[in-house]
Amino acid sequence: MARVTVPWIRAAAVAATLAAVPAGVTVAAGARPAARCAVPGTTRTLDQLWHPDRSAAIAYARSRVGDIAFAVRTQGRFSGYRPDHQEWSASVVKAMLMVTYLDSAPVRNRALTDRDTSILGPMIRVSDNDDAQIIFDTVGQAGLSALARRVGMTHFATNPVWGETHITPRDQTRFFLHIDSYVVARHRSYAMRLLRSIAPADRWGIGELPLPGWKLYFKGGWGYGTGLEDHQVVLLTRGCARVSLAVLTMYDGSHPYGKATLKGLFARLLRGFPTRPRRAARGAHAHAHPRAPRARRAPIVASAAAASRRVVIGHSARGRPIVAHVLGPDAAPRKLLLVGCIHGNECAGIAILSALARQRVPSGVQLWLVPEMNPDGSAADSRQNADGVDLNRNFPYKWERITDPTYYAGPRPVSEPETRAAMALIRRIKPAVTIWYHQHMDLVDMAGGDRGVARRYAQVSGMRATCLGFFAGSAPLWSNHLLPGTTSFVVELPAGPVGAAALSRHVRAVRAMEAGQRSGSRTSCRG
Ligand SMILES: [Zn+2]
Repeated sequence: MARVTVPWIRAAAVAATLAAVPAGVTVAAGARPAARCAVPGTTRTLDQLWHPDRSAAIAYARSRVGDIAFAVRTQGRFSGYRPDHQEWSASVVKAMLMVTYLDSAPVRNRALTDRDTSILGPMIRVSDNDDAQIIFDTVGQAGLSALARRVGMTHFATNPVWGETHITPRDQTRFFLHIDSYVVARHRSYAMRLLRSIAPADRWGIGELPLPGWKLYFKGGWGYGTGLEDHQVVLLTRGCARVSLAVLTMYDGSHPYGKATLKGLFARLLRGFPTRPRRAARGAHAHAHPRAPRARRAPIVASAAAASRRVVIGHSARGRPIVAHVLGPDAAPRKLLLVGCIHGNECAGIAILSALARQRVPSGVQLWLVPEMNPDGSAADSRQNADGVDLNRNFPYKWERITDPTYYAGPRPVSEPETRAAMALIRRIKPAVTIWYHQHMDLVDMAGGDRGVARRYAQVSGMRATCLGFFAGSAPLWSNHLLPGTTSFVVELPAGPVGAAALSRHVRAVRAMEAGQRSGSRTSCRG
């Protein structure tokens, strides 16, 4: 490849690379979600619904001026055209710069400052080069290389001039498919927000295609608009479904021509892409995840005895028994599980379980009450268990290595006996509804399963329903994934004990869950 003088060269860049900051602790390698994921609104995986039209894209590429290479990657498949062909990154490397910076040792452990956001925002949204230089000066070539190793890139090479970083379509799709997993949890939504809000003037290529139902994250690079390079690297998500695409072009002749090439390539690769709006797919969804059987509309007084049965479902790290109180017969078709306390310093929910244990359950319902899933933590008034693990980050679905002591996810998924006990119980009884009581946010989190169920709980209990979003390795995330059609959600009680009036509202809310009530859309959490 001929060397071309490019305008972002700066004398400062060479010296600056000596001040490299090592990247943060590895999080991503073991944190891949399972490939089995039905595209929302359908019963099938993305790979079953769609294949990139590689031949049409290659035929088109051959008809265009320029040095073209591309790749497409789903959770199960990869295809490409010259996927290991190296090109200069231009501004595409800014996504790597951002991730490296946000996950670097000092930044990952603190909140972002106004200075951080005043640099990162323009670097991504309007592709500001001065801001990129500041971040490059901070993380250095070593920081970028460390990220490339975490991702498993095979043809990546840094350069003292950041715009001449060597990238390939294969490596970039590997990075973008799970780009969020390389950013520490506290900064993840910020990073993704930036990649989703590229300035209108830069939304050419992939940004010109209608993709209803999908969220678009991308970064482009265009070598100051000379046609030297025109690239885009893209992540599309819809629920758990993901696909990443990279199109790299060099020597296009002009920027407008390069932009047209990218748009034409993406349009061909995405031919037949399942872009139906979610609304149109309701019927299919109901088929895919049949609702749990509705409980018979029985009066509260029923055949089940009020007396509860005590079952030890496991033991804590310190050997304390984890106890469940079971009300209602094993033959009951509808089972509910309530956990009073999993974070040992957020235990107000136990009072709600105690109130429920003194009442009868309707017929057709079996109620499992686990007051303390984390008895060692409760005894020590600590969030974590006796091993210092945040149990609500230790479940295996989308588990991530989190080293922040507050949210320490454990050395590996399911490392803790309390996690194993909870998983065994949930696998055994397959609750239609699971409620995890926490504190002190005073809200109901609808972020998983059927949102209508959590929304109904919020209505009856007089709380606000909202969407807290994704927590890697959390208990609801795991059980909602394991048992489609069921709902596991979090009730964040306010600080302090539950008062008498609130207590009766919560008992009524649980009765509504027993009766199979729900309210409104299943999917209102998604934007
Ligand atoms: Zn909590």
